[in-house]
Amino acid sequence: MNRSNTTFTSVSSKKILLIEDEQDLAKLVMLNLKSMNHIVTHCTTLQQASQVIATKQIDLILMDRMLPDGDGITLCQQIREAGNEIPCMLLTARDSEADVVLGLESGADDYLVKPFSVLELRARVKALLRRGKQIEHQDDSLEFNGITINCSTREVIAFNETLALTAREFDLLLYLAQHPKQVFSRMQLLDAVWGYSYSGYEHTVNTHINRLRNKLAQSSSTADLVKTVWGVGYKFTPPANQATA
Ligand code: CA
Repeated sequence: MNRSNTTFTSVSSKKILLIEDEQDLAKLVMLNLKSMNHIVTHCTTLQQASQVIATKQIDLILMDRMLPDGDGITLCQQIREAGNEIPCMLLTARDSEADVVLGLESGADDYLVKPFSVLELRARVKALLRRGKQIEHQDDSLEFNGITINCSTREVIAFNETLALTAREFDLLLYLAQHPKQVFSRMQLLDAVWGYSYSGYEHTVNTHINRLRNKLAQSSSTADLVKTVWGVGYKFTPPANQATA
């Protein structure tokens, strides 16, 4: 088919790295990503993937966990330790709670449990690439006692320390902080921050909340800013007007 006259102005093409050693699955994923107008680089090992990440600009990484030379989450950890906030999604055959939490704690933004439907894959990829878009047009900062959330630079300064948040952690904090003291369920947060609300993925929210809390706790604040409302969800409580010693 001659597609030379076809324009794709409505869909922006992104560079996606797929790390998957299962050939049939890799083909299926690539076919779908390409039909979404994305450019895919495919690797079958962590070593190859590390080289690609070091040399190419990548917008999203989809990674299998069980690879010939190791577990995908080790690469995810390395990426985050290097301060790289590129969105990462794990493709995992493991779906026990412990495995899911471990995967997310490695710094992954999301995960898909195999076998997954093509529709779900496409929806997740779209959601991960769309992240942060709803607040991109905002220039203002949110200011609380000791905490500044800058929407244009996507920077959070807590008690004079800049926090290194992943894009998803930033979006989550921003969403909660835009609605102080309002309680959101995990499904509501999935819907608002991740862009989907499939049940069964609520662990994603818990883990991101925990990561966010750990990072907030590294600042000199003693305040519990993101509170758990048992049986309901989470809320942002602005720091009280008090000395921060
Ligand atoms: Ca594998």
